[in-house]
Amino acid sequence: MQAWRASLLRFDDQGHALFDRDGLLVTGPGADGRQVVLAAGDHAALAGAWPDVPVTHLPGRILAPGFIDTHVHYPQTEIIGSPAEGLLPWLEHYTFPHEARFTDPAHAAEVAAFFCDELMRHGVTTPLTFCTSHPASVDALFTEAQRRGLRLIAGKVLQDRHSPDGVRDETEQSLVDTEALIRRWHGQGRLGYAITPRFAPSCSEAQLRGAGELAASYPDVWIQSHVAENQDEIAWARALFPDSRSYLAIYADHGLMRERAMYAHCIHFSDDDRALMRDTRTAAAVCPTSNLFLGSGFFDFAAAERVPFAHGLASDVGGGTSFSPFVTMRAAYFVGRTPTTGFHTKPGVSLAPERLWWLHTAGAAHALGLEGVVGNLQPGCEADFVVLDPAATPLLARRTREAESLAELLFALIVLGDDRAVAQVVVNGAPA
Ligand SMILES: [Zn+2]
Repeated sequence: MQAWRASLLRFDDQGHALFDRDGLLVTGPGADGRQVVLAAGDHAALAGAWPDVPVTHLPGRILAPGFIDTHVHYPQTEIIGSPAEGLLPWLEHYTFPHEARFTDPAHAAEVAAFFCDELMRHGVTTPLTFCTSHPASVDALFTEAQRRGLRLIAGKVLQDRHSPDGVRDETEQSLVDTEALIRRWHGQGRLGYAITPRFAPSCSEAQLRGAGELAASYPDVWIQSHVAENQDEIAWARALFPDSRSYLAIYADHGLMRERAMYAHCIHFSDDDRALMRDTRTAAAVCPTSNLFLGSGFFDFAAAERVPFAHGLASDVGGGTSFSPFVTMRAAYFVGRTPTTGFHTKPGVSLAPERLWWLHTAGAAHALGLEGVVGNLQPGCEADFVVLDPAATPLLARRTREAESLAELLFALIVLGDDRAVAQVVVNGAPA
C-alpha cells in the first residue's frame, strides 16, 4: 500500500466534481494483481485510519483521474498536422498510404511505443484506438500496452471496399482475423478488443453483417467506428445503403449499436438519430480539434442533453491536432460556444469546466461502460492518475494563484494547460 498527499479531484456518481484542497489518496492491491484506490478524501479525516502507509507529499500539486481518449488512431501518430481539403482527400493523400506501412511488424512496434510514450506525457491512461487493417498492427500495440500495464482498447480496422491496395482487406479473412484477435487479446490483463469497421462506406454489406454477428457473439467486446462527420461522407453512405433510414441507422441495421459501441463525431444528427443512440445505449466520441481542423462541423452538446445519449471527449489524432486532453477540452469549449445556423441549427452554450473535465475522465468511462473502473479516483477504481502542476508555466502560476473556486482553477488549466502541467503519470499504482 502507498499514499499520496496533495489536492485531490474526483467525481461523484452524478458527475459532480469533488475537491479536497488537502487530500489523501491511498492505493493498494485489488483483484487480479491490479492496483486500486483504497481510500480517497480529506487528509485530516482519513490519515488516522491509514497510520502505517508510506505517504508521498506533493505540496501544491493536484491528483486527478488519468484522462480517457475515447477515439484515436495510433497509426496516424506521424501524420498529425497534414494539410488537406477535408476528410475524404485527407484519407486518400495521407491516411491510406501511411497505414499501408503497418503490414511491417517492426514499423508497427516502433510507432506503438512512441504512441504510448506520447499518451503518458499528456496524462492519457486509457485510449480506445483504431489500429490498421493489418493484424500485425494490433499485436504490436497490445504487446506494448501489456508491457506497460496500460488499460487499452483497440481493434483491427475492417475495410473491404473503396480502399486502395495495401489497406483493403478481404471480407471472409477480415472476420476470421477479428475473431482470432478477440480470442488472443480481449480480457488479457487490462486489455480490451474493439470490433472496428472504419466507416460504413469502406465496408461491404457482408463485412458489416459479419461484424454485427461477432458483436452479438462477444457482447463484452467493444465496437468503434465513425458516423456523420461531414456532408460528403453522409451523402456517400446514404447512396451505398439506401434502405437505411439514416447514416447512423446503417450501423443499427447491421447489429452494431449496443452498449460498448462508440461512434466518433456524431455531428450531423437528427433527433431520431439521437434517440437511436439513447435507446441502444450507444455512445459518441466527440472530437473537437479534428472537427475544427477538417472543417467538419460542430457537435451539438445541448441536443445531446435534450435527447440524452452518452458521450465523451476524444483527440482523433491524426485528424485531431493534439494528444493533449487540455487542448481537447479547450476546443470542446469553443465548439460548445459556437452557434450555428442553417440546416443544422444549434445555440452557443458555455460548458462548465467541471463538465468538460468529467467528459474526458469519469464521463468518458461511463460512455465506455467502464464506470467505477477507470476515469475516477473513488474507492475501487484502478489506480491510474495524473499529478498536475497548476504552476507549470509563469502564466498558469499567476492565473491559478488567483483562482477563487474549483471552476476557476480547472478552467485556467483547460485554457492555459498542456503537457507541461502533467508533472507525473501513475499507471496501475506505479509512476510511468
Ligand atoms: Zn477517427
